[in-house]
Amino acid sequence: MNDLIVRNASLADGRRHIDILVRDGKIVATEPAIAVTGMPELDAGGDLLCSPFVDAHFHMDAVLSYGQPRVNQSGTLLEGIALWGELKPHLTQQALVDRALQYCDWAVAKGLLAIRSHVDICDPRLLAVEALLEVRKQVAPYLDLQLVAFPQDGLLRSADAWTNLQRAIAMGVDVVGGIPHFERTMQDGAESIRLLCEFAAERGLMVDMHCDESDDPMSRHIETLAYHAQRLGMQGRVTGSHLTSMHSMDNYYVSKLLPLMKEAGVAAIANPLINITLQGRHDHYPKRRGMTRVPEMLALGIPVAFGHDCVMDPWYSMGAGDMLEVASMGLHVAQMTSQAAMHQCFDAVTRNPAQILGLQGYGLEPGCQADFVILDARDPIEALRLRPVRRYVVRRGRVISQTAAPIAQLSLDGRPQSVNFRLG
Ligand SMILES: [Zn+2]
Repeated sequence: MNDLIVRNASLADGRRHIDILVRDGKIVATEPAIAVTGMPELDAGGDLLCSPFVDAHFHMDAVLSYGQPRVNQSGTLLEGIALWGELKPHLTQQALVDRALQYCDWAVAKGLLAIRSHVDICDPRLLAVEALLEVRKQVAPYLDLQLVAFPQDGLLRSADAWTNLQRAIAMGVDVVGGIPHFERTMQDGAESIRLLCEFAAERGLMVDMHCDESDDPMSRHIETLAYHAQRLGMQGRVTGSHLTSMHSMDNYYVSKLLPLMKEAGVAAIANPLINITLQGRHDHYPKRRGMTRVPEMLALGIPVAFGHDCVMDPWYSMGAGDMLEVASMGLHVAQMTSQAAMHQCFDAVTRNPAQILGLQGYGLEPGCQADFVILDARDPIEALRLRPVRRYVVRRGRVISQTAAPIAQLSLDGRPQSVNFRLG
């Protein structure tokens, strides 16, 4: 009986003084001044209430492994891949499960209740697959974990990757992954896309490939991905992750490419924290930013999400599971500073990834799951600026995390005052 009434919330779309009535874990009304009594009540106090954050691109098999067996000295993508190769033989299922569960606790505290994680299938033991399937089961009551079979060392480049990927899907992994730019040749990259898309299409599965994570403007696998999505009728089920080469591509070519992606119903995921740190590493000055063309894709109606990608792993030593930090970085890197663009950045870590993952019952309207977050902020733009605490995180009508709003007590020249960084 997860019943609840939330009073006086502000919503991301600008509605204010809204109550949300929850019965049996589902939202039954979202409107001002709902007349009910005798129910558990939460006072939002005019603060922003939004649907949970969603991370459309993550690597939970590597999370919190920073420093094992050593630190990435150069900080580059390629040393990170080499480092992951050194760590893999030492992985145990228990360590994988423990690290993932610890991260899921962090995620819940930050209001992040759905994650799509790639899982490396190149280890013939499929330890990480087994571990994350176990984690998916354990966290299911409070977090939706969607898994992607990811042939990290290349589908055709790595022995047994194709067999392992099929085994992983048979074991219950949800989505078909790929990494065409890491295959030996452009032709092998294109062939891997064809094989993987046909495999997914036959089984009605979604596809999400690491695609063109490179500064090479001639890395054009996204064109091939869009081609097969279109050919196989997979509109709405195919995603290109990273797409960083698009940053460096010829502008005329991109003017043809983006409409092809739109026509094929292909979504895009940028990973701003990782793209800004890993791309442009071979550049002297000026250094490229390396993030894909987010505002241009959004303007065409291509769904774009921002992913976290990494937290404290061989590729990235930072991060805490805060999708507002991810969105803030995306906002800065893409110079999305208009009012409308800042709202788009907020959508890129909430609504858009929910659509890309195909989450059922996501939203705040009657009939949706009673999953939401109340932040110590008034609106999405203030949330992006402050990355504030999540006062309440609610799943299926039940409060699963609470954080008190921090208030600094200043004492200046004998004038005590409190500071919370909010205006008004
Ligand atoms: Zn990734």
